[in-house]
Amino acid sequence: MRMYDIIDKKKHGEALSKDEIEWFITSMMKNEVTAEQVSAFAMAVYFQGMNDDETFYLTMAMRDSGKVLDLSGINGLVVDKHSTGGVGDKTTLVLCPIFAACGAPIAKMSGRGLGHTGGTIDKMECIPGFNTSIDIDTFISNVNKIGIALAGQTEGLAPADKKIYAIRDTTATVDQSSLIASSIMSKKLASGAEGIVCDVKVGDGAFMKNESDARRLAELMVTIGEKCDRKTIAILTAMNEPLGNAVGNTLEVIEAIEALKGNGPEDLMKVVYTLGDAMLQLSGLCKNIEESYAKIDSVISDGSALTKFRLLVQSQGGDESIIDDTSKLPLASFSYDFLSEKEGYVQSVTAQHIGHACMLLGGGRAKKEDTINPGVGIVVHCKIADYVKKGEPLATIYYDDADLFETALAEVKDAITISSEKIDKPQIILGRI
Ligand code: URA
Repeated sequence: MRMYDIIDKKKHGEALSKDEIEWFITSMMKNEVTAEQVSAFAMAVYFQGMNDDETFYLTMAMRDSGKVLDLSGINGLVVDKHSTGGVGDKTTLVLCPIFAACGAPIAKMSGRGLGHTGGTIDKMECIPGFNTSIDIDTFISNVNKIGIALAGQTEGLAPADKKIYAIRDTTATVDQSSLIASSIMSKKLASGAEGIVCDVKVGDGAFMKNESDARRLAELMVTIGEKCDRKTIAILTAMNEPLGNAVGNTLEVIEAIEALKGNGPEDLMKVVYTLGDAMLQLSGLCKNIEESYAKIDSVISDGSALTKFRLLVQSQGGDESIIDDTSKLPLASFSYDFLSEKEGYVQSVTAQHIGHACMLLGGGRAKKEDTINPGVGIVVHCKIADYVKKGEPLATIYYDDADLFETALAEVKDAITISSEKIDKPQIILGRI
């Protein structure tokens, strides 16, 4: 076979066979396919798409390009959750301790972020001493001992995805449903979870800008999971405004801790409860939504979810005193309140602009080599449809560098618009597959 012919076939909209897809991945891993060819392949898929079979073959080939973890040493059914990525998305930090406190094992492998803010691993690394590079034996033994462990994805998992993703990221070919579904599912399947709950974000701050594309992505992920005998559920959630109020690594950790103390923002908690219900029903711990919600309520109000978070921090070498005194977390040196210039109803808090502002401040990565400043970010004080008065703070910007602050402020100003017309509060949960 020749890569040239495979690209040409896809360019003309023909379906690739299992053998062709496997050959592409195997040859790429032997460095017999060039980066230019991978990028041409990704662009051909971007324009011509892939059918369900091709997407499945690509997922399997990427999963099998590296190690597949065996989590059978963990007592209980391992259910994993994954978000396709959004601005202010700290759901994992809240949901995992809650789920563990409900009695289910949490063996969470997460990535670092590209774009607006860091990923879950970057956020947990804001906690002084917290080690995200524990080895697999410690990882499994921590889950069995305290019910929860959180680690960076090991290098050897789905390395083909890593290679392709790095090229997609620089060639504007990330936002294609088959490529996203195969990328995410190859890693989830390689990391050994038996049940998978996917949070598929929809809106201007997400890869999928409209509901029909997001639904297609969700259906693909569920089909792939089920074909591999994994119980899989996808929930569509809105991403037109940031989730919760905080955007930026330390700021999001603080908001997550507050949520575990029972003070979480309404939209974040709605996502946590909805995904939590899906996870609890998948794991067989709850039979219906009423049971799940009651269980989640009880582990938050009796403090056991916060205790799981504390155990997680302690067991991986972190300074647990930050839970009682979040001012010990690294925060930027300066802050600025952006005030409303008029009264009215909040029409937009564009997630994309707020996310971009956070990245400009140094809170996210433009390139994967970039280092993150954990202390910068934005706390948005208003939500779409809120009524605000003139002079009221709409957002607080946390910054270390005055020049970066000016460009970020311009983005924040673009993000928030006020209208004299009343607007309906948007839905946060848009569907379930
Ligand atoms: N997250 C991933 O892991 N892969 C994608 O393609 C998009 C988001």
